[in-house]
Amino acid sequence: MKQDYDFIGKEVYMTKRFSFSAAHQLSGSTRHNDQLHGHNYTVSVTVKGFLNKDGFLIDFDKFESLLYTHVFFKLDHSVLNDHLEPLNPTVEVLTLYLYNEIETCLRICECTENLKIAEITVYETDSFSATIK
Ligand SMILES: [Zn+2]
Repeated sequence: MKQDYDFIGKEVYMTKRFSFSAAHQLSGSTRHNDQLHGHNYTVSVTVKGFLNKDGFLIDFDKFESLLYTHVFFKLDHSVLNDHLEPLNPTVEVLTLYLYNEIETCLRICECTENLKIAEITVYETDSFSATIK
């Protein structure tokens, strides 16, 4: 007997964290000096949508694999300036870039239906982050 998980009519939010290490060189910054330096970034991605007939929002293994393959693998141990130029590779710009990249992944991912990004937060340090909702 199939269950109807849509009976409450509420979207479900799920969050996955990713991490990668990368360097950047900022211009016009009062935040850092202008030397090339690195960070261990943590990215928290929250997606939202309605559950499928099996009670899942998303196939998390496929979702994780897709994002690692198409987004985070190329950023890990790279220089962010190479990916974001001519933009200044601030954590704010990186967050915008990741939003667009992850949104593209969600459109091509066979593991999702009508899934949307609810929020992305990129932590440049433990106490400093940028968020897009
Ligand atoms: Zn920095």
